[in-house]
Amino acid sequence: MSKTTDQVRPKESAPTPATAFATRAYAASRPTSALAPISIQRRVPGPRDVQMDILYCGVCHSDLHQVRNEWQGALPTVYPCVPGHEIVGRVVRVGRGVKGFKEGEIAAVGCMVDSCRTCAECREGLEQYCEAGATYTYNSPDKHLSGVTYGGYSESIVVDEAFVLRVSDKLELAGVAPLLCAGITTYSPLRHWKVGKGQRVGVVGLGGLGHMAVKFARALEAEVVVFTSSASKTADALRLGAHEVVPSRDDAAMQRHFASFDFILDTVSAEHDLNATLALLKRDGTMTLLGAPEKPAALAAFSLRIKRRRLAGSGIGGIRETQEMLDFCAEHGITADIELIRMQQIDAAYARMLQGDVKYRFVIDMTSLK
Ligand code: NAP
Ligand code: ZN
Ligand code: ZN
Repeated sequence: MSKTTDQVRPKESAPTPATAFATRAYAASRPTSALAPISIQRRVPGPRDVQMDILYCGVCHSDLHQVRNEWQGALPTVYPCVPGHEIVGRVVRVGRGVKGFKEGEIAAVGCMVDSCRTCAECREGLEQYCEAGATYTYNSPDKHLSGVTYGGYSESIVVDEAFVLRVSDKLELAGVAPLLCAGITTYSPLRHWKVGKGQRVGVVGLGGLGHMAVKFARALEAEVVVFTSSASKTADALRLGAHEVVPSRDDAAMQRHFASFDFILDTVSAEHDLNATLALLKRDGTMTLLGAPEKPAALAAFSLRIKRRRLAGSGIGGIRETQEMLDFCAEHGITADIELIRMQQIDAAYARMLQGDVKYRFVIDMTSLK
């Protein structure tokens, strides 16, 4: 080797530690595309981070709204979009400052992976209403890597331990995954509006959220009535815990329940008549909207002023309450009723979801990605 060559050789520097690693995922690349395999980056765990291999991920109707960019006004979709916020996995690595989780344990992640942690809402444990905006598990600006966060339709995820949940080993894990969104989203308003014994509760729409609402309202000892547009779901609704099932498109059947409910949870994902369900409330009764249809609904003032009714909304639930809900489920033996699918079946699952044909949550077996 000549002296000249030696002189021009660049000086070797110490290798910089890797800040990210590649992981397999499924993504939509535009509103109309089928989901397809993709390689994404996850950050190497920092001192407070937990790295999990994802075992199961539930399929929420919000995944479908987001993938199709149906919430353009409020939450426009950034592509590629990797959905999934009902995550159960095994911890494979923890940062040196992590106190609550160990390698090998089962843990869970829901709809949020961070928030400002200092505003009044965060301090109250209501991170979903963070004044700076919570960092959602997917389609939120990623504070660590550039671009947006990527969700649970992937083989691995890295999350700050403050947003990782503990899971009881008593529960069947695939059925636990949907608790992380469908579970907390229905549990939180039932607790906030203090639903319990002696109250009549209506659940409108028997899908992922609706079937969890039935289980929780029943466990809280309320009288539960399901309003469904699918006559074929009647037997299931009763098996899940409903005392009665009403076909929501039968005007005479709806009329028989006029002004008889204390509280109603509306979980419908598509355009529907809010005035018909508001009419079911008693004086001072409350209907809480959980569904997030693409188009705004028409509201007649008379639906509310008659009987001083209230119309409210509720968004997922804070981390503390999500843990409380998971512990409540362990105590009462509650999990979601699921259909386990392979990752490659996601588009067929979305198509069934659009038909209201969900029994009652699709959950992806994430080992199918390998
Ligand atoms: P899902 O499993 O698809 O269930 C929605 C149910 O709504 C269907 O099963 C169907 O029940 C009913 N439905 C659908 N189209 C209808 C129509 N045109 N008319 C009447 N009923 C109809 O969805 P999901 O995952 O439970 O989510 C439900 C909604 O909640 C979605 O919009 C989702 O984005 C939203 N969401 C909100 C939050 C939150 O924080 N507030 C959290 C998660 C999800 P029947 O067959 O019984 O009628
Ligand atoms: Zn969800
Ligand atoms: Zn905050």
